[in-house]
Amino acid sequence: MKITQILKSKDTALSFEVFPPKTGEAFAGVVAAVDKIAALAPDFMSVTYGAGGGTSEYSAAIAEHMKNDLGVTPLAHLSCISSDKADVLEKLTRLKNSGIENVLALRGDIPRNFAGNLDYKYASQLVAQIKEWGCFCIGGACYPEGHPESPTLFADIENLKIKVDAGCDFLTSQMFFDNDAFYSFLSKIRDAGIYVPVIAGIMPVTNGRQIKRMMSLSGGTLPARFRRIIDRFGDNPAAMTQAGIAYATEQIIDLYANGIRAVHVYSMNKPEVAAAIRANLSDIV
Ligand code: FAD
Repeated sequence: MKITQILKSKDTALSFEVFPPKTGEAFAGVVAAVDKIAALAPDFMSVTYGAGGGTSEYSAAIAEHMKNDLGVTPLAHLSCISSDKADVLEKLTRLKNSGIENVLALRGDIPRNFAGNLDYKYASQLVAQIKEWGCFCIGGACYPEGHPESPTLFADIENLKIKVDAGCDFLTSQMFFDNDAFYSFLSKIRDAGIYVPVIAGIMPVTNGRQIKRMMSLSGGTLPARFRRIIDRFGDNPAAMTQAGIAYATEQIIDLYANGIRAVHVYSMNKPEVAAAIRANLSDIV
């Protein structure tokens, strides 16, 4: 099923994300995690695309497993910065032949010592190429606090408009920890003429140090209330996991209460975290 159809048919949608293994030996372990997360009956599941494309084979295989063996709608991520057009067409052909209908079209992070790419500079070019095919439901990434390479949030929103106009059917947001930042972003993009559905990305934090590092790299902010939680529990993995799940649950309930219809949980191959979030929302979603 296309994600746009899911979003139209549900007042509250919930999805989970997994990432592919780096090696063949780790594949079975990732599949076991995918199976447990799929058993929670999410509305769809996304599978990321390894930076540089080195794990693309596993991404496609996991998306196929979701669709064929688990009956869950897959969203396959695809990034273009390390590919040429022929490579992208080959990957799209595989997805299409497997009956996968949803693709999250990404540029990808610029690799170190990057020599440049003649075919793709921005995700909007990939979106346009996929659109030409006419058969995929296409998602794009968006950044409630601005993409780190953008000089301002407004410049980023102007570029987002180009990407959406190239053919995005929906957007999924970068993780955020302050819902007000997300509401303010939504209002700004609507003012800029971007009307496609936006799925809110929520990360249940289980590792305090890791999230501090990630946020400092991405330019995102940690609200003081959440920073205090990380400062207090960040060195105790069990306590941080419990607090991170509680904080994410509160964010999700607030989002639904404020009319946001779809939340994507960055569940990071952790079935126990996905299950706890699901249980906390058992009468809500
Ligand atoms: P773009 O939309 O191309 O934007 C990149 C930068 O270029 C932005 O600063 C934008 O403002 C600017 N820009 C865009 N168009 C123009 C233009 N026409 N002129 C000037 N500037 C422009 N990475 C992976 O490797 N694998 C994944 O599976 C993956 N999944 C992700 C899922 C989500 C929901 C999100 C939010 C991110 C994901 N990423 C993933 C990370 C993503 O690849 C990086 O954030 C990357 O740096 C930007 O990708 P993008 O598709 O947003 O790029």
